[in-house]
This record gives sequence, C-alpha cells and structure tokens, in this order.
Amino acid sequence: MKHDSQKVPENAMELIVLGSGDAFGSGGRNQPAFLVNVSAGAFLLDCGATTLIALKRLDLDPGSIGAIILSHLHGDHISGIPFLFLQYQFLTRREGPLIIAGPPGTEERVEGLWGFMYKETFEMMERRFPVQYIELKPKNWMRIGPVDVLPIELTHLHRELAYGYKVKSGGKLLGYTGDTEWTESLIELADGCDLFICESYRYERKLPFHMSYKEIEARRSQLKCKRLLLTHLHTDALARIPDIPDEVAYDGMRILL
Ligand SMILES: [Zn+2]
Ligand SMILES: [Zn+2]
Repeated sequence: MKHDSQKVPENAMELIVLGSGDAFGSGGRNQPAFLVNVSAGAFLLDCGATTLIALKRLDLDPGSIGAIILSHLHGDHISGIPFLFLQYQFLTRREGPLIIAGPPGTEERVEGLWGFMYKETFEMMERRFPVQYIELKPKNWMRIGPVDVLPIELTHLHRELAYGYKVKSGGKLLGYTGDTEWTESLIELADGCDLFICESYRYERKLPFHMSYKEIEARRSQLKCKRLLLTHLHTDALARIPDIPDEVAYDGMRILL
C-alpha cells in the first residue's frame, strides 16, 4: 500500500476526501472523514463508519494515520474508529501510538463504542498499540501529531460540545466545521483559511443544528477563506448541486494546498 504522506512536499498540505456524505448515506456517499497529509505525517478529520472501506478503495495505508481529530461525537463522525482499531490490531500490527483528539467525553465515547462492538476482543486481549486521548478546550491552539489545531465551539448539540477546527501546518491553514448551524463563530473559523471545509446539509430548508446552502450563500462574503468546499450534503442539497456555484466535495477528491 502507498504511503502518501511521504510524497507531500515540505510546506504543502494534501486533503483527500474519504467521506463527503451525511449520516444517512445520501447519494451513496461515505460518512464524514478527511485524510490530511503533511510532510511530517497524516491525520484524519472525523472518522465515519465507512472510513476504513474508503481508505482501502483508494489504496491508502491506514497505518500512516498518526492522529484522529473529532469534531463531535455523533456516530457518523466517530463510528469508524473501532474498525481502524481492528485493522491496527490484526492486519497492520501497529505498535506506534495513535492520538485521538476531540471535545470533552471523547475517550469515554470511543472506548465505550469499541467495548460494545468488539466486547470479547476487548476483554481477551490487550491492544497492541497505545491510544493517547486528548480532550480539547475551545480557543486553545494545541499541537496534535504533526499539526497545530485550534478548536472553535460551534452550535450542533444541546449538552455536548461540537467543534470546528483551524489546522495549521507548513504555513497552510485548513478550516473544518464538522456539523453546525450558522453561528458568528464560523466567520472566525473561515478567516484566512487556504481551504475551508463547510457543512451544507440542506439546500434551503432551515433546520436546527445544521446549515442550508441558502444560509451559506447569504453570508458568503463574510467567509474570508481562499477556497470554500461544501460537504455533508443531504439528498435535497445533492439534487441541487447544478444550482450551487460553490465547490462541492466528493468521495476520493484530492486537493493539494
Ligand atoms: Zn452531527
Ligand atoms: Zn454529521
């Protein structure tokens, strides 16, 4: 399998879209996951249920992933992690540490998921690789694996925190919303980004905790990013792609920054 992170030049950042869909598999798209390669390593932004399948379809090496950064703890963003653990335990035979970073509650949720899904495996053998959990505080730049990350609190859940992230490496700045409704914090999140990955769940229907494309369009001039990439589209928004002038992510898409 390829080790794509080795091919990324110094000061560059490569984004590979592993999952551009929503929780419902709308349009046959994979659940949210983005592989980011920088010269010092590779990490995931979110890890939906289909992530390992997407890596293998694209002939990418799951073992190259040093860190998983979670926007929030909904199943379509985290439920691929137990399958990566299985891969690392039995196929990759991983020994190096895996960092999993996310909002408060990340360790309990991910370990709980692993325990529920592979109870006997979990009880009968130790994981052969250490997992380092980092629970992030909002508005604090933090070094995670090969990159610097700034979590910004967004609006997606009642009781739990949902983050968007600014990710900095080699002079490149990437922004990612995870899931959120419109909030003024998105202006800060998009500001200065070379690429801003933004959820656009519905086309025009207003829902709590998500955005529609029409809301994004109305505030487009406030998003001061060099390039906007829409993702997490539901069926209605997918059907309107021909009417959307902004760029829409697709599974397997690659962008070199
Ligand atoms: Zn969500
Ligand atoms: Zn989602």
